[in-house]
Amino acid sequence: MQLNRFEARRNPMAETYKPHDIEEKWQLHWEQSHAYKASEIPGKKKYYLLEMFPYPSGRIHMGHVRNYSIGDVIARYKMMQGYNVLHPMGWDAFGMPAENAALERGIHPAKWTYENIASMKAQLKRMGFSYDWDREVATCDVLYYKWEQWLFLRMYEKGLVYKKKSFVNWCERCQTVLANEQVEGGSCWRCGSEVTQKELDQWFFKITRYAQELLDYCDKLTGWPERVIAMQKNWIGKSVGAEIDFPLEGREQAITVFTTRPDTLFGATFMSLAPENPLAVELSRGTAQAQVVQNFVEKVSKQDKIIRSAEDLEKEGVFTGAYCINPVTRRRMPIYVANFVLMEYGTGAVMAVPTHDQRDFEFAQKYGMERIVVIQPEGERIDPEEMSQAYLGEGIMINSEPFNGMHNMKAMVAITDYLENTGRGRRAVNYRLKDWGISRQRYWGNPIPIISCESCGTVPVPDDELPVILPHEVEIKELGGSPLKSCPAFVNTPCPRCGRAALRETDTMDTFVESSWYFARYACPGHDSSPLDSTKVDYWMPVDQYVGGIEHAVLHLLYARFFTKVLRDMNLIRVDEPFSNLLTQGMVCKETLRCEAHGWLYPEEASQGICKRCNRPVTVGRIEKMSKTTKNIVDPQTLIDQYGADTARLFCLFASPPEKDLDWSEQGVEGAFRFLNRVWRMTIDHLDLLKPVKPFSGTSVPDGSLRKLRFKTHTTIKKVTSDIEDRFHFNTAISAIMELVNALYQFDLSTARDRVTLSVIKEAIETVIVLLSPMVPHMAEELWERLGNQESIFKILWPAYDAAAIAEEEMVIVVQVNGKLRSSIVAPIDASEEEIKKRALADDKLKKWVEGAEIKKVIVVPGKLVNVVVK
Ligand SMILES: [Zn+2]
Ligand SMILES: [Zn+2]
Ligand SMILES: [Zn+2]
Repeated sequence: MQLNRFEARRNPMAETYKPHDIEEKWQLHWEQSHAYKASEIPGKKKYYLLEMFPYPSGRIHMGHVRNYSIGDVIARYKMMQGYNVLHPMGWDAFGMPAENAALERGIHPAKWTYENIASMKAQLKRMGFSYDWDREVATCDVLYYKWEQWLFLRMYEKGLVYKKKSFVNWCERCQTVLANEQVEGGSCWRCGSEVTQKELDQWFFKITRYAQELLDYCDKLTGWPERVIAMQKNWIGKSVGAEIDFPLEGREQAITVFTTRPDTLFGATFMSLAPENPLAVELSRGTAQAQVVQNFVEKVSKQDKIIRSAEDLEKEGVFTGAYCINPVTRRRMPIYVANFVLMEYGTGAVMAVPTHDQRDFEFAQKYGMERIVVIQPEGERIDPEEMSQAYLGEGIMINSEPFNGMHNMKAMVAITDYLENTGRGRRAVNYRLKDWGISRQRYWGNPIPIISCESCGTVPVPDDELPVILPHEVEIKELGGSPLKSCPAFVNTPCPRCGRAALRETDTMDTFVESSWYFARYACPGHDSSPLDSTKVDYWMPVDQYVGGIEHAVLHLLYARFFTKVLRDMNLIRVDEPFSNLLTQGMVCKETLRCEAHGWLYPEEASQGICKRCNRPVTVGRIEKMSKTTKNIVDPQTLIDQYGADTARLFCLFASPPEKDLDWSEQGVEGAFRFLNRVWRMTIDHLDLLKPVKPFSGTSVPDGSLRKLRFKTHTTIKKVTSDIEDRFHFNTAISAIMELVNALYQFDLSTARDRVTLSVIKEAIETVIVLLSPMVPHMAEELWERLGNQESIFKILWPAYDAAAIAEEEMVIVVQVNGKLRSSIVAPIDASEEEIKKRALADDKLKKWVEGAEIKKVIVVPGKLVNVVVK
């Protein structure tokens, strides 16, 4: 590549690329001209691009830079395709870290949060993202959470909200309830301490009412990654089977179990209860087993549920002292409490069939329970005494009169029919999905709008008393549950029904509630007569493209889908699903550094493999997700200060495709900066020549090297467009643009004078700038303006390629020997130098001329000639 032909001659006075000046100039311009303000334009096709909004921690990190750069390219690209684009930004502003900051530093959570919002907003603006800041939403703003309280009350009226006593995951350190998904390997996702079980009155959203619809619609989400759909389906976890009632011996009650294997009912020899099942303690009460059961329940309930459901778990249990009756065999079945049974599955009770379920087999073996085979593989006989594991396959029913001899798959249906006909059971569907516990015993959240009165019970706050304002003057304590409890001005309130003294609910809502409908609120952020302005919401929803981390593949997305369906059923929104397309970007990773004396080191704490503090050698660990814990982080601000926002953006987009992890590389950043400098010089150094000419727009294609350049220009448009359009593969799109820049550098622009040549060059240079503009908007705007264009580059339409220019064509290339014309060859218009050289040397005529001579050099002038120098 002849990279430096005119760079070498560059005028030392020529203007250098100054990213900070340019970027600040254009950011101000965009802000003052309200360039990205979105409004509803009836009839114009809309495009709603949304990135998952951040928690206002105080500073943006590289993950944000990557996520939002990806989103910004899509937003700007769609703008240039003529869409009416909505690209909002806001803050998921309630949550624990604000309270921790209050504890650690004595700052009020509100002050901490709003200061963080201000500094992060400044950073996002400095990145040049095309947000419509007029639509900014912070979920801790009264205007937002007021309407969430209103939605809570409507859901309460529809029976979608209820309160029940339940065991919850409890983090002692955070003094808070955790959702199952916030428990990671038995530890709190926030602070890492051990999670225990605690029984509390909790508010729940009845998401299970929508379980089937949430499942059905999974198959309609064709714009979502298959992996995410699989995770959603698995989380909903539908299984089909039967509910069977097992009468308790000596009581009126029965234990109901859910099973997917009603065909094995005749082999059920005992019953296993989850330790969390209230029956466990109740049945043992007054028996000799009472204390044993109590101790066992306490021990197991502290254990991690993920470990408890693992196949290789050592099965353990204790007898409750009680029995139930198998409804078909009338066998007396001892009732056990077992560590592997979870309350979350089915009814928290399992009919144990040791011969046909491996976990029951292991348990029965340990505690010496009876084994009865009820399914025999065809042509074999299993001896229950000789079994070394459960038989899980299909076969023929035995020991199951009147179903003996039947295939077990048929028996599944027949036995369920029999149970239904005799009133001992019924067909049933079970979902793994449980109702969503939303109570949090925290301060910095949305107050639940409920009052409890001694005479009236649970009373919803009347609409005209909304919002229930989160009080400012509250003492935030490390321990002791909800801080709101110790705020009498908040807690004490007259009952809205009877007027007597009553108490406000002091739980606040899970912050996942706020993120379940913010995307709809962006359509009408200031609306204050209802949560959503239907006209505007109907115009913008659904979100056409949602971009965010895979860590939200289950919860946030499921809750947002649930809320959308609830809002639809309240006639507040018309769509069934919130997000048509979903892109889950990979993580930003970097190697870790560790000093034996100082532990994890920040990159700047080491220099050339040595710890700056102690001069010991640094151990370089593997490349992993950037994290504050392992200190393998790069502050985007440093990057912006040093290279500018465009370089930071380009690096993130170029280093890997969006769905893959991105490995941090200093060289990658420098490479991105160098490339932008090349584009800058290529344009700025030839402004005098280029500015007066119009880009080539003729139909008669020029010959030779100009034709080749046009071919390159238009194949680049085609490639970049399809890379962005089809898969958001910005990295390969940028590669293609780099090749076009290389092709341009092969032209000696400084000597080009004729109008056609200049116009073809200008077309190519403008193409580079336009194709790069969604990725590096500041530089693109600047160069576009310098080339004499009046309007913002984002007002022009994305170029379409010229089909005639990219038709694969061949060209004639002259072949010389020592500068004298000796032959000619034909080569494709885009043939590489190597290819042309190969074809020339293979030419028969040429071979005659060089026979017996020593070839010293082969010079290829692309698109024109080959000169073979011989001795
Ligand atoms: Zn914790
Ligand atoms: Zn009352
Ligand atoms: Zn050290």
